[in-house]
Amino acid sequence: MRSRARAFYRARRAVAASWTAVAALGFAVLVALGAFRSLALPSRGIGALACALGLGALVVGRLSTALRFTRRVAPHLTGPVATRARRFHELRDDLELGAILLIATFAMLQATGGEGSPLYPLAYALVAFLVAFHRPAVGLALVGVALTLEAALFVAGNARDGVTFGMHLGFVAFFALIHLAFLHAELMRQRREHRLRLDAEVARMRQEARDFRVISSQLGADSRNRTRAEEEERLAQGAVETIHQALFYNLELLKTSLDLHTAILLWLDATGEKLIIKELCSDSERVREGELGADAGAPGTVAKSGESLMIVDPKPGHLPYYEEPEAIAAFLAVPVLEDGHLRGVLCADRLQRAADGEAPTAAGFTERDQKLLAGAALQILRAVRSERVFCAVERGKYEHERFYRASEQLNRALTPDEVFATAFRAAREMSDFDFAAIALYDAQARRHTIAAATGDGAEGLAGQTFGDNAGLAAMVVKNKHYLPAGGELRDREVPIFNKKIRLKGMESLVVLPLVCADEAIGTFTLAARRHAAFVKDKREMLGVIANQVAVSTKNAEMYRAMEQMATTDGLTGLVNHRTFQERFGDLISRAERQGGKLALLLTDIDHFKKVNDTYGHPTGDIVLKGVAAVCRDEVRKIDIAARYGGEEFAIVLDGTDLAGARLLAERIRSEVQALVHAPAPESGKEPFGCTLSLGIACFPDDGRDKKALIGHADQALYFAKHNGRNRAIAWADAAEHSRPQIRAVK
Ligand code: GH3
Ligand code: MG
Ligand code: MG
Repeated sequence: MRSRARAFYRARRAVAASWTAVAALGFAVLVALGAFRSLALPSRGIGALACALGLGALVVGRLSTALRFTRRVAPHLTGPVATRARRFHELRDDLELGAILLIATFAMLQATGGEGSPLYPLAYALVAFLVAFHRPAVGLALVGVALTLEAALFVAGNARDGVTFGMHLGFVAFFALIHLAFLHAELMRQRREHRLRLDAEVARMRQEARDFRVISSQLGADSRNRTRAEEEERLAQGAVETIHQALFYNLELLKTSLDLHTAILLWLDATGEKLIIKELCSDSERVREGELGADAGAPGTVAKSGESLMIVDPKPGHLPYYEEPEAIAAFLAVPVLEDGHLRGVLCADRLQRAADGEAPTAAGFTERDQKLLAGAALQILRAVRSERVFCAVERGKYEHERFYRASEQLNRALTPDEVFATAFRAAREMSDFDFAAIALYDAQARRHTIAAATGDGAEGLAGQTFGDNAGLAAMVVKNKHYLPAGGELRDREVPIFNKKIRLKGMESLVVLPLVCADEAIGTFTLAARRHAAFVKDKREMLGVIANQVAVSTKNAEMYRAMEQMATTDGLTGLVNHRTFQERFGDLISRAERQGGKLALLLTDIDHFKKVNDTYGHPTGDIVLKGVAAVCRDEVRKIDIAARYGGEEFAIVLDGTDLAGARLLAERIRSEVQALVHAPAPESGKEPFGCTLSLGIACFPDDGRDKKALIGHADQALYFAKHNGRNRAIAWADAAEHSRPQIRAVK
């Protein structure tokens, strides 16, 4: 039931979706049958008229549906799936509507005389229109429809001859092609022009943003890629340029509005002994270049007094910024003061004006002029200040960017060495230091160990230890607060680490505590040759880095402990079984690659059950530890000593042949035999000893893979057990002596 209902529903939907197409096809068939030809004939006109009306209704109906879809439905279809659905709808609509219009036109042509109809150009116009306004695929499909209809018209018997038919076909194709070519060429041209205009506009906007420094002057070149020095230089250059622009603009405005001969800004240099010409705007060619004495002429007076000054009809000596005397009628200067400190002197002067034939008149500056000049001095100061703020913000941004990156990197560091290297790098990004060291504090042993050091005098420091002395590092750990106050090295007698370690020529110093979970786990020391290398905000940022270093060091230690736990056996401290398997496999692969040798020793304590039974498990454990210690001490770093299981140990000797393995096995055997174990005092038992049996298999002679080697060493061990214990047997010997009993292991 349900499936029938569903089939019915589907059929209804399909009909609803395609009835126009079906109707259009019907009308196309009618055209082919020549149904509209009889519209002109009165006898059969009624039927044809009905067809025409039907076709008209279809055209109107289809047009209104298309319009409704475009207006109401399409705007709500968003997202990739909906967009695809919309595209499909539009494609179908375009095709259907175009086809219906074509059918209606051809029906009309048929009704008005077929091939000879005077309305024929209408068909060409329609084809041209359809091609022009649809995308090429739809346009071409519709041209196909037009050509088919043309053929239908011909078949329906309207055609007088094949030539006319051919010509019609040709025209339809020609109009379609012409429009396609021209229109698309035009479209492409317009698009290209539009894109060029857009690009130019974007470029212009960028340039302007750069001018106002809304965006960085090196857009795209991320500040991450610049060094600290480069960043400083970039900032300084930008700031100086902007200040000069602002200054020049100010002076030019002054000169025009006050009718000046010269407007000039003199800036006091760092020593306070010179006035430097920073910017000027003048009609004179005699303005001096460079600098003046801080007490020279009228500007010197202003600099000294900090008060503004006006001189009517000044003497040449009043105006030291001219190389040669100028006919100046009046001079006015105001001090540029920042928080009561003199920064510069802003000067203005005016020429003597002589009306035709009259003597020149001296004209002083009015009170309004003086106010204007004082306002300009303020404006100049504001420009300098805002640049300074801008630079500070930019510098802060740069440092913060580095800071976050450093935090990120510290979070990722997994080993203590990685943490220390990252810490030095991070500190370098934030401050210029000449020496840095990280010392870790062992609270139990009450000793500090310099874990890493870099820079001048760092050589040989790593690994040195010092106690809880009166040095700065020890104090910092105790107080969990950085020293010395202010980041300056005041008392050179107080050692940083201990009296033996001396840093020479450092002016700035900061020893930061590495605090983690309210516990100081060490110190981060930074020193620099220059003064004020670690000012307050630097110290604060370095302090946060130090905390991060503390947390990361703890994490790295924890990680190392966890790794240790996962790879070693808790009782004996030897490598555990899983790690043995891994590392043994690696060594075999390497030996295989390099044509090297390997020896595997499997050991088992003799009659160990009896030890447990007689002396108890805890004493058994002590024996195990003692034997493990012998194994560990006998092998080199590159070898493996592992607890294989229970009271069995495995030893892999890298690059060792059978002879070497025999020697070592024998040494281990005799050392184990020599061990004397003490039972628990309360047991009242005498000290005792125990012995070890060993089986040896060598790569490549006794096997080329892990399984074969372990199997053969195990068989050799079994042979040793069955031949008196307390001995080392190689598989080669075992196989020789009792081949029938030894099962070969592949
Ligand atoms: P054999 O000379 O043939 O090796 O005799 P054995 O008694 O040593 O026999 P076997 O190797 O089978 O003994 C294994 C014993 O080792 C059994 C078990 O109680 C003991 N053992 C295994 N692991 C531990 C451990 O971690 N601590 C202690 N105390 N004993 C262990
Ligand atoms: Mg055993
Ligand atoms: Mg045993």
